[in-house]
This record gives sequence, structure tokens and C-alpha cells, in this order.
Amino acid sequence: MTSAIAVRDLPVAVIGGGFSGTLLAINLLRYGVKVILIERSSAQLAKGVAFGTRRPEHLLNVRASNMSAFPDDAGHFLRWMHFSDADEANRFVPRLSYGTYLRELLVQALAKAGKDARIVDGEACAIERVDSHARVKLANGSILPCRAAVLALGNFPPLPHPVLEGLPSHLYQADPWDRTALEGLAELEEVMVVGRPDGSRCGPVAGGVRVPGSSDGAVSPRPQAPSACGTRAGGDAHTRSRTARYGTRPRCTAPGGGGRLA
Ligand SMILES: Cc1cc2nc3c(=O)[nH]c(=O)nc-3n(C[C@H](O)[C@H](O)[C@H](O)COP(=O)(O)OP(=O)(O)OC[C@H]3O[C@@H](n4cnc5c(N)ncnc54)[C@H](O)[C@@H]3O)c2cc1C
Repeated sequence: MTSAIAVRDLPVAVIGGGFSGTLLAINLLRYGVKVILIERSSAQLAKGVAFGTRRPEHLLNVRASNMSAFPDDAGHFLRWMHFSDADEANRFVPRLSYGTYLRELLVQALAKAGKDARIVDGEACAIERVDSHARVKLANGSILPCRAAVLALGNFPPLPHPVLEGLPSHLYQADPWDRTALEGLAELEEVMVVGRPDGSRCGPVAGGVRVPGSSDGAVSPRPQAPSACGTRAGGDAHTRSRTARYGTRPRCTAPGGGGRLA
């Protein structure tokens, strides 16, 4: 195992199968490098936190024209969206559409790579060096040898804020991007959003709970008026049809063993 040839034959372990890990895996596979992509949340595979949302009113904060997955093919995302004119290219489309785009690209890359690619469903908890290669340990006890490991873990949840100290936990939600964060908020009469209400991040949180005319508030050290991000929530008919078409997650078995994409 420790000979140079054996090590070269090992995969690169990409830990974290969100946006960065997925694009890295896809691009490594393009160059013929074997890959193991380790993701602890099957729902977030390829999409990560940002593009794993299920809410169509959560929009990208970057125009469609700048969201291609491939630096050498700037129009790739526009073609995938069937966008052909400048107005369409300037749109901010739903993040869930972008998540579906990433998931499709991963499915295609896995199909092409065959046994050179593997999705592993699990949480990495340690990496150790063994001679000239490494081993990634998963929480379930599995050990995955690799020639190199890449951390693509995304943003960590916010640290507890001192202002929240002493408040009972049912009175606040510290991590707005937790998938259960909005549960039960709609029943509350008043919700205060503390953060940057710029229409793409904080705005959608408020959007998830606001009833028109209700008195939810937002507090920010750097106030900006929430913006509509250049398009109506849910996008135009084109985007909606794309979202409807790809909104349900494709199910397939990843070639090369292991994970199922759902
Ligand atoms: C709400 C929101 C909206 C955003 N909107 C945009 C936008 O419109 N346009 C834009 O360009 N950027 C946007 N961003 C920025 C976005 O975070 C980055 O562009 C990018 O998606 C981050 O990718 P990432 O791979 O670093 O993290 P993520 O995509 O979050 O992926 C990290 C993954 O690692 C996994 N993971 C973590 N630890 C482990 C472990 N130990 N073992 C296994 N798996 C693990 C997590 O489950 C997760 O799926 C947004 C961010 C947020 C939070």
C-alpha cells in the first residue's frame, strides 16, 4: 500500500459534498483522478446549505450569468436554464434550481466515472497520516484510505451570541439555515430578525414567516432595505417551469458503489 504506485492509485477524499466539494469532485474526475465524496447529509449532497433549500422564494444572490459550474464554459448554467437573452441572464433564480443543477452535474459525473468515483454517506471525524497516504475515519467506524484529503466543510453554525445568554432556547433560533429553523414560527405573532436584511439571506428568513401586514422586525448593525433581488419570488414562468421540472429530486444509484442520490 505504501509504494508510490499504490498511493497514486488511491482516491482523493473530498470531505463535504456541498457546493465546493461537489464541484471539486466533478473537476477532479474530469482530469481522471479517483474521488471519494463524503457527505453526512444525503439531502444536502451536491447542494450544501445554500442550495439545499426547498423554498422557491429563496433566490441566488448572484446573477444567472455568473453561476456556471465550469470556469471554461461561462454559459453552462444559462443553457441548463434554457436562458437565451440578456434579461434572462441577469436574473436571480431560485437557489433550489441551482441545487438541482449541481445534483444533475454530479449524477452525470458519477455515471461517466464509473468505479473511479464513490459517494460515501457519513460524517468524517478524523484524518490520520499513515506513511505516504492518509486515512479518513468516519463516525460509524469506517476507515477510508486516500492519497489526499480535502476539507470542504462549509460554514459552521454561528457561535452562541452573548445577547442570547439566559434566554430559553424556544425563544430564539441561533442558526437560521438549520433545516428545521422555520418550523412553528408562522404561528408566532411577532418575530425579530437580527442580521443583515439584504433580501437574499436574512430576507428569505423573514419571507418564510412573514404574513403581509404583520409586524416582524429586522435589526442590523448595517441596515439595508430588503430588495426583491431583481425578480419576483419564485422566478418567472421559465424559471418556474424549470423548477417544476427539476424540483423533485432524481433518484439513482451512484455507480462505483455506495451512496444513493435522492
Ligand atoms: C443562505 C445562503 C445563501 C447563499 N446564497 C448564495 C448565492 O446565491 N450565490 C453564491 O454564490 N453563494 C451563496 N452563498 C454562499 C455559499 O455558502 C457558498 O457559495 C457555497 O455554497 C459554500 O459551499 P461549501 O461547499 O463551502 O459549503 P456547503 O455547500 O454548505 O457544503 C458543506 C457540506 O459539508 C458537509 N459536511 C460538513 N462537515 C462534514 C463532515 N465532518 N463529514 C461529512 N460532511 C460534512 C455539510 O453537510 C455540507 O453539505 C449562500 C450561503 C448561504 C448560507
